[in-house]
Amino acid sequence: MSLPADYHMHTPLCRHATGEPGEYAKHALEIGLTEIGFSDHAPMPQDNFDNWRMNADKLDAYVAKVRQAQGDFPQLTIRLALEVDYLPGYEEWIRRLAARHPWDYFIGSVHYVSDSWAVDDPQKLSEWNHRDADAVWAVYFERLTRAAESDLFEIIGHADLPKKFGHRPPRDAHPLYEKFLDAAKKSGCAIELNTAGLRKDCREIYPSREILALAFQKGVPIAFGSDAHAPEEVGMNFTEATQLAHGVGYRKSCHFTRRKAALVDL
Ligand SMILES: [Zn+2]
Ligand SMILES: [Zn+2]
Repeated sequence: MSLPADYHMHTPLCRHATGEPGEYAKHALEIGLTEIGFSDHAPMPQDNFDNWRMNADKLDAYVAKVRQAQGDFPQLTIRLALEVDYLPGYEEWIRRLAARHPWDYFIGSVHYVSDSWAVDDPQKLSEWNHRDADAVWAVYFERLTRAAESDLFEIIGHADLPKKFGHRPPRDAHPLYEKFLDAAKKSGCAIELNTAGLRKDCREIYPSREILALAFQKGVPIAFGSDAHAPEEVGMNFTEATQLAHGVGYRKSCHFTRRKAALVDL
């Protein structure tokens, strides 16, 4: 088994990651990866939306940083991408971002279940105490389904992120997964195996084996991401992730060039 491309990593421009793209690329080569993609947190129309993404005026600097790494590491394929927050009503903004640069792919991620609460924000962990956890999961997957239907993204990021701090999905979550994965299949977008979950309280890859097995049954393609916020996190636990994918039946993963998918052997 060779290691798949790592399509999810950040830069200091998002204000909560360390290390320059060249350091991420260097680590990728050291562990035997042949392809990576930078997918930093995309700006929102309002810079004060939150404090964990790049400001809009940093977008060109971000692209320049990734281009620099591409030039410095010609032996590694380095893709240019963004992790874009999906919130209903932001579709036009996302289309405008898409038109700004020749991106290789967009990861569509749901972090926010309302305009002010991201379920994975450690600074807002106490918000979980005021919420009905089942309702959070329901809203989360409704938004994820809309993201998959939107045709704005090549990859849907960390599909069961609400488990991050150890909150378990509702007992009857299966229909939520079905609806989301049917939408992904219909629009042709891939889902991400994101190994960052192994470094969080949930101690599990996003998404769960249950979701991944259902995705395979439905023919939804996959891509891989470490969600690295530091160079040494690049490719972390990729052997485990590849084994999980194999275990449910996957033999191919997706690579992306200029927003076009190609299936490669896993
Ligand atoms: Zn982040
Ligand atoms: Zn994310």
